[in-house]
Order: sequence, then structure tokens, then C-alpha cells
Amino acid sequence: MARTATLVSIGVGVTKIAHTDTEYELEASGAVGNFIAHANLMPTILCVRLLEPYKGEGKKKEDRMDLGLKGKVAIVTGGASGIGACIAENFVKEGASVVIADVNIDAAQKLAAKLGKSGAKAVAVKCDVSKKADADNLAAAAMKQFGKIDILVNNAGVIRQARFPDELTEDIWDFEMNVNAKGNYLVTQAVLPHMIAARYGKIVNASSICGKQGTPEFCSYTASKFAVTGITQTLGKELAQYNINVNAYCPGYVRTPMWEGLLDGMSRRLGRPREEIWDEWIGTNVPLKRPQEPQDIANVVLFLSSDVSRNITGEAISINGGTRVD
Ligand code: NAD
Repeated sequence: MARTATLVSIGVGVTKIAHTDTEYELEASGAVGNFIAHANLMPTILCVRLLEPYKGEGKKKEDRMDLGLKGKVAIVTGGASGIGACIAENFVKEGASVVIADVNIDAAQKLAAKLGKSGAKAVAVKCDVSKKADADNLAAAAMKQFGKIDILVNNAGVIRQARFPDELTEDIWDFEMNVNAKGNYLVTQAVLPHMIAARYGKIVNASSICGKQGTPEFCSYTASKFAVTGITQTLGKELAQYNINVNAYCPGYVRTPMWEGLLDGMSRRLGRPREEIWDEWIGTNVPLKRPQEPQDIANVVLFLSSDVSRNITGEAISINGGTRVD
């Protein structure tokens, strides 16, 4: 039953109550949604209606969403570095087995050995995603090792900054399109028969903020990431009949080896220190005024790899601090 009370202090958005043993769900006058009452916190004086006592179940800070990834088998392409390495580590933390597929086999093996120390099942497979034979071998190796493939994260990617038309050579165009777009198609095609046979699968693709908006001096990268968004939308619809979800993640700016390489080039071009360029880039382009971390991206990828997101397919989810909103 709703009761009316006045002069109650509330702390909107604070989830832990420090000095009160009384918790209520509150509906602030004229406001939308429910808030948690925090006596003695943030002395905002509002007129509120007290609803049912707040039970607190499932809303504690330490509660975690159970993604149900224990026992699942995931392939992560480009899993030896940056975002891919973070995704692989997170799968292992959730109890999944992981195949780290990368052209850089030394780095992939090193990560697999590190993850394996905790008793997790992590293997490295050398794979250039732009080569059909490598893609086929990757799927076969994963099946041989684990007997199934539940999740494919098409994360491998490359980027080049090239002004149009003088710097953007055919080689650069082909390189980015082959790895980012064709590689996505080849690995997905190799893995798909196993997912279709199992009537189960999660395909999670690395698109980008550049897969949703034009990006000067990154024409072929942008074209390749629009291709990934297009593949995601199309296969999301086409593979739904097999109980396979296909989604994409679209990071904004994550300081991985990919960005370190870009900063080197920008610093040379502009004759300015790389840290200055980075700070200015984030300060100018990101409303939240902070870059994304690999963990921010891995959180979304694991969500999309789980049945928690079973009714999401064909989507390209932005993780960009507000730089571009859909
Ligand atoms: P990264 O350079 O740190 O890692 C990329 C990994 O892919 C490396 O391990 C590399 O060896 C591997 N790789 C490259 N070519 C390959 C190939 N042909 N076959 C197999 N593996 C290959 O990059 P990252 O920043 O971690 O990026 C991961 C993904 O996220 C990429 O698809 C990238 O386009 C995308 N992305 C990154 C950002 C960012 O800000 N870092 C933003 C948007 C999208």
C-alpha cells in the first residue's frame, strides 16, 4: 500500500546503504521509476510515496549475473592480444574452454599456457582468418580437441590509416577487407555446420564504431566494419532457424596494441607527442571523457555469448562512451 511521507533523504543511484537498516522502494513525486531510500545520504529533500518494503534480493552489489558459460567451448580469433586476449581470459574465468586462434602463434601459445595454469582448458591454434584452409583447420582442431563449438568470437582485425585517394592503395584495401570482412565470412562458414548440427550457437563479431559511421582517413577499415555489421544483421535473421544468435560489438576507442600502432603513425604525421594526441582524442570525441577498457568490451561479448541474451540477434551493440549513439 502506498503511504505518503515528506522530508525523506534519498541518494539516487547509490546501491549500498551504509547507516540505515530500513530500505524502501520509493517513487519520487513527478519522477519516473523507483529509487532506493538512503536515510542520511545526500540530503535531497523530496516528497515521496512509500511502496512495499524493499526486499533487496538479487540487488546486492556482489550479486553477479549467471551467464551459464561453464562447460561451453569458445573460439576467439585474434585472441592473442588486446580485446581478444581479455575475452579469452574472461571465458576461462566463467569455466568455458577456449581456442585462441591467431596469426601470432607464439603470443597465442603463451596466453594458452598462462590460462592453462589455473586448470582451464585453453589451446592455441595458428590461423590466418583470411585463408580458407586456416579457417577450416581451426574448426576441425576445435572439434577434435573439444567435440563441439558453442561460441565463435570473430575478433581478429587489422587497421590502417590512409588518406583517400593518394594513400589508400589497393594493397591496403585488400588487406583490411580480407582480414576484417572475408575472414569473418570464412571462419563463420567453417564453424557453422557444427553449430547447425547441434542446433545451438552464438556468433559474436567485432565490428566497430567505424561499422556504423564514416571515418575520414579510415575508408577501407570503415568499409570492412560496415561489412561486419551487414553480415551480423543478415546472419542474425538467416541463422535464427537453427537457434544460432549472431551479434556484433562495436567498441569506440580501446588502448590496445592496435591503437598504439595508430598513435605511432599519428604522432609522426602531426609531429606531436602520442599521449597528447590520445588525451585530446578522448577528450574531444568521448562524452564520458574516458576510453573503453578491454574488460568493457569483454563484458558485452560474454553477455552476447550466453543464453542470458537469447532474444537478441542481428544487433551491433555500441560500447563507446557516448561517441555515437544509435
Ligand atoms: P589488437 O591489434 O590488439 O589484436 C588483434 C589480434 O588479431 C592480434 O592478436 C593479431 O595478431 C590478430 N590478427 C591480425 N590479423 C589476423 C589474421 N589475419 N588472422 C588471425 N588473427 C589476426 O587489436 P584489438 O584492439 O584488440 O582489436 C580487436 C578487434 O576489435 C578488431 O577486430 C578491431 O578492429 C576491433 N576494434 C578495436 C577497437 C579499438 O579501439 N582497439 C575499436 C573498434 C573495433
